[in-house]
Amino acid sequence: MKEDNKPIDIPMLMPERLVDVDVVVWDMDGSLYRHDGERGTFKESSLERAVTRSAIRFIMDREGIDEVTAMTFYEETLLDEVGTSRVLAARYGITRKEYFDVVWDLDPKGIVRDFEIPKRVVKKFAELGKQQILLTAAPEAWQKRVLSFLEIEEMFFRRYNAEMFGKKDEVFADLAREFNPARVLSIGDQIHSDIAPAFAVGLRVFHVSHPQALLTLMGGEST
Ligand SMILES: [Mg+2]
Repeated sequence: MKEDNKPIDIPMLMPERLVDVDVVVWDMDGSLYRHDGERGTFKESSLERAVTRSAIRFIMDREGIDEVTAMTFYEETLLDEVGTSRVLAARYGITRKEYFDVVWDLDPKGIVRDFEIPKRVVKKFAELGKQQILLTAAPEAWQKRVLSFLEIEEMFFRRYNAEMFGKKDEVFADLAREFNPARVLSIGDQIHSDIAPAFAVGLRVFHVSHPQALLTLMGGEST
């Protein structure tokens, strides 16, 4: 995941314009809950650590090697353009999905935190009759775990995960054709993947700098 998250000059949806929105596209990690890594990102977060531990365990099991050797090999896989999933899938003759299904099947407890406000906003949007889509670059296994943990599986009429697309840009372009783009709102914490490409195809956007920021979108509604 890229760490470049510089604010850019894109107008965010104002709460009073929420009435113009029919479809809400949610990012998951960092938006439906807060990352606890460096500056609120995936880097150095509990999620990154859990994935690393799980991947190293996977390599140890497959190769029958010790932890230190597996760690060294894991570090090498990170240098690949696509990443560990591609290297290991090729090496073991499995699909990337098969790799994700094992390595990303993680318990969200202790990883997923500060989710109460996003969860409330998702439920509020459902009450308001908004159609909600989940668009995450995370693997399906993790997506299922998080939605189940947050108890909001039923809130999304469609879900996209890592196995279904390359870049979010493609999905935003499809959605802009399927719906009136001016009536679609993209909500996410990453400017370069959730906000800029959505805005580029005419969608409305809202940047989640912190879960608390979602309250602004609800018109400042307090707890
Ligand atoms: Mg995110």
